[in-house]
Amino acid sequence: MASVRLEDVHKTYPNGHVAARGLDLSIEDGEFVVLVGPSGCGKSTALRIVAGLETPTEGRVWIGDRDCTEVPAQDRDIAMVFQSYALYPHMTIRDNMGFGLRMRRHDAAQIRERVERVAAALGLEEFLDRKPGQLSGGQRQRVALGRAIVREPQAFLFDEPLSNLDARLRVQTRAELRRMHRRLGATMVYVTHDQEEAMTLGDRVAVLNDGILQQYGAPLDVYRRPANRFVAGFVGSPSMNFFEVELRRGDGGPRLAGDALDRALPPGLAERAGAGPFTLGVRPHDVELSPSPETRDGAPEADARGRVDVVEPLGAATLVHVRLSAAGSTDGPEVRAIVPPERAPAEGAWVDVQVRADGLHLFDQATGRRAG
Ligand code: ADP
Repeated sequence: MASVRLEDVHKTYPNGHVAARGLDLSIEDGEFVVLVGPSGCGKSTALRIVAGLETPTEGRVWIGDRDCTEVPAQDRDIAMVFQSYALYPHMTIRDNMGFGLRMRRHDAAQIRERVERVAAALGLEEFLDRKPGQLSGGQRQRVALGRAIVREPQAFLFDEPLSNLDARLRVQTRAELRRMHRRLGATMVYVTHDQEEAMTLGDRVAVLNDGILQQYGAPLDVYRRPANRFVAGFVGSPSMNFFEVELRRGDGGPRLAGDALDRALPPGLAERAGAGPFTLGVRPHDVELSPSPETRDGAPEADARGRVDVVEPLGAATLVHVRLSAAGSTDGPEVRAIVPPERAPAEGAWVDVQVRADGLHLFDQATGRRAG
């Protein structure tokens, strides 16, 4: 196995489209890294550059200690698993899995031994003499994975390999991939647009947007401290709420104030954050709701107040959409909150809204970068 490194990689396609703008990405030997971002952000381009299926316009590609920038795909010792698993329909599973080794002129006994060992690990033994048409989508996916594993490559590359599977099978195969990774200790680079898949699979996730690496880190670090507003909105489900706010420094201490929201800011955060204006990000899990009287004299104790618009039971929790009242009107921005089902308010009810102090994410409004 080997490490994989992209060094200041740029890619401009012949039609002038720029798909990578200075990517620096270091993947350790044995690491499982997921490239994630919206469709068109350049994930597949980055992966195809590692595979040797595209050449970078600028920059270098390293596999282990070897500069592979100019090395053709077939000499890179890398296995790629695609969404369309392209098995040969007329060949048995055994022959499909051994195909790459036969092409590389391994001897028959060795091919047989490796195919059977990998088939056993993937639970495919009983299908070895069947044709792909006689297998389910999930089983075919495992065959495609097995075909890559028998080659014992330096690294595995996956391009959205689960997107053809139904939801249940996706979750199953995801867990299988993690197990597989643990067992093989292999370097794996995996592309998906699905942030949940990225978070659950990766030792580290690399979030891309518009050909630029936005953040690279352990899934929970990225979730807890998104580096910018883009990452904050992309990672986590349901997605983060955002409000435009100013920082006010009054006698009572620093406050965040916007059209619909006004709350104290922990002093440490106020110091680190600078002057603003800011975009305040709050995850739905960090929003608390409590019943509020329909009319009330004086300012509320809460950070904001609003009226419940839609209640969506998700099973273990309930997602509540609240329309905040802003400047006396009931037509302010929306906030989404995740609450325990037994505490969910009714649609139309008035609620007080509180944001947990450790759930405040501040981003500079101009640059989108995390502030504080
Ligand atoms: P992703 O995998 O994140 O969806 P891609 O890496 O496939 O994104 O593509 C990044 C951008 O480059 C997209 O806007 C896409 O349309 C464009 N692109 C991809 N391949 C080519 C190509 N061969 N020629 C021109 N543009 C391309």
